[in-house]
Amino acid sequence: LDPNAERLTQTEKDLERVLRPQTFEDFTGQAKILENLSIFVQAAKLRGEALDHVLLHGPPGLGKTTLSHIIANEMGVGIKITSGPVLDKPGDLAGLLTNLDEGDILFIDEIHRLSPLVEEYLYSAMEDFKIDIMLETGPNARSVQISLNPFTLVGATTRSGLLTAPLRARFGINSRLQYYDAKLLTDIVVRSSSILNVPISEEGAFEIARRSRGTPRIANALLRRTRDFAQIKGNGSIDKAISQFALNALNVDENGLDEMDNKILSTIIDKFKGGPVGLKTIATAVGEDEGTIEEVYEPFLIQEGYLMRTSRGRECTEIAFKHLGKTNHYKGNT
Ligand code: ADP
Repeated sequence: LDPNAERLTQTEKDLERVLRPQTFEDFTGQAKILENLSIFVQAAKLRGEALDHVLLHGPPGLGKTTLSHIIANEMGVGIKITSGPVLDKPGDLAGLLTNLDEGDILFIDEIHRLSPLVEEYLYSAMEDFKIDIMLETGPNARSVQISLNPFTLVGATTRSGLLTAPLRARFGINSRLQYYDAKLLTDIVVRSSSILNVPISEEGAFEIARRSRGTPRIANALLRRTRDFAQIKGNGSIDKAISQFALNALNVDENGLDEMDNKILSTIIDKFKGGPVGLKTIATAVGEDEGTIEEVYEPFLIQEGYLMRTSRGRECTEIAFKHLGKTNHYKGNT
């Protein structure tokens, strides 16, 4: 259930790869983004140029990595994958950049976590397809400028607010991925089931979809767990009853909130009178990383109307009180 890719096990990563759509056609949802991207891709191909640099932002598991693979596929170019924290030194980046063929894609996940030094090094590469590299060390050290093949940088970030202005300005295409509605996620679950060879009813798929926090990665993960329940507790196929049974056993509640979602809300209500309370305080109280709360949990809780972000901190709404079956004694206090 962990929406953070870096914590996925190898088997889960392999499964993700199998379930990954390969073309614009295959990709469900994000209609506006796809429409634009496919025009930009066609135009770049027509001109025989590399696609403009693309920045994709949004919570984990919504399809940023998938889209970058699709872009490479549709452009008919290669793709190299790395991430902000992995690119330690400008030299690491230079190695990658000089190995790109014309038009290739360099995908940098978590681009907001690039070191300032590496980020600065990236500027001239993005802008002029040129980089400076140091030759030799000591008294003979000198820097030479070398030209790169034109390439497309695709940057992905869960925290676009942390991106510096100069870096952001160097992306010609800038897209924010949205949470998926239950209908779209139902289509994704049905598609994944057919790839995994699990019979599923529309209602069974919908039950998983509507309780997946608007996130394809979670929908696919819940589908795989539900498949286990169907095989052991049922006849192997997934219907509404099996989905409900599995999701309850997995502690995903009726509204699709998971344990941590509920823990965050009940902590704010029980310990901090419903808020407002600062993010850091919440993080300590629930024992979860501050960044994860801000990138993963909070955006969904805010979108669904459970939580508000105010200038004085986070505050639970009436919907949150109701959801947890609590009375708001603090109303009017704030
Ligand atoms: P991100 O890079 O945003 O964290 P990924 O691209 O890795 O997310 O997607 C996570 C999983 O969800 C992948 O296995 C992918 O197959 C699936 N997925 C994401 N978006 C879609 C979509 N629109 N349609 C079908 N599957 C999707």
